[in-house]
Amino acid sequence: MRRLFFASVVLVALTLALLTGCTDRAVQPAQDKLVVITTLFPQYDFVREIAGDRVDVRLLLPPGMEPHAYEPSPRDIVDIRGADLLIFTAHVMEPWVTRIVSTVAGSSLRVVESGAGVTFLADDHYDEEHDDDDDDDDRDHGHSHGEADPHIWLDPLNAVIMVDNIAKALSSADPDYAETYYARAEAYNIKLQQLHETIAAALAPLTNRTILYAGHFSFGYFAHRYGLHHISPYAGFAPDAEPTPQRIAELIQRVSESGSNTIFYAELVDPRVARVISEQTGAEMVLLHGIHNVSKDELNSGATYLELMKANLDRLVEGLRIK
Ligand SMILES: [Zn+2]
Repeated sequence: MRRLFFASVVLVALTLALLTGCTDRAVQPAQDKLVVITTLFPQYDFVREIAGDRVDVRLLLPPGMEPHAYEPSPRDIVDIRGADLLIFTAHVMEPWVTRIVSTVAGSSLRVVESGAGVTFLADDHYDEEHDDDDDDDDRDHGHSHGEADPHIWLDPLNAVIMVDNIAKALSSADPDYAETYYARAEAYNIKLQQLHETIAAALAPLTNRTILYAGHFSFGYFAHRYGLHHISPYAGFAPDAEPTPQRIAELIQRVSESGSNTIFYAELVDPRVARVISEQTGAEMVLLHGIHNVSKDELNSGATYLELMKANLDRLVEGLRIK
């Protein structure tokens, strides 16, 4: 069904391109600037940090859109075809990128997987590491083992790898500025390294190390890096199926027993599950931002990956504290 939809999207996009007579016209690049389209907010922010005003960077997802169910519109396809670079996370996060490659053949577009070289973790890894329930039953999770977790950017050391990949791609597309791109990337990577050290130092002394999260399972890499546990009632790595009442009941019990009186919730989706849990337990609802995308307000107020991660850290330290 999705494939059919996609085929028609491509057809419409190509028709639109023929009608306008020129695919490149849709993007209207600023003079001499590379047009860089990024899928998710982290890559968008990393390109801004590495390239500054040297490139025309655009965020493909409209602000506020939850990204897991995203499919490119005909207009998006036309824009992508007219860009110089498309920077995405990984095939497991944006599977549609694989499908558009044939439709952009013949254009000068370079497709860049910013997560190349990152060590991907799969759900069975988390199950072994995190599930300390006696009655653990993997069938409850509703997904097949071995599915890779796409949320690599929430580990700042993975972000370093993404920044390196982006700097390399920009330098290759715009060699005259290669030195600048590499220098800025290096400076930004020092900030990411400092962020990592700040997070590690702040979380190390905590005795309560379990993030009770009412959103989908997105903090796996973060939890893995900093030795935390992470419990979500959702079945997979996307908010595409509502959690079962049994999983919500289990989470309510965990919140009641936790001593921290906090339920974390995700950005950009209605926090219904967190609200139910909060009503049942009296727990405080606290945002833990998965930084897939940002809201319009966040974008307009100049939100950055570093700031969002630091805000997450502050909320975690307070939210995990035993009260
Ligand atoms: Zn996600």
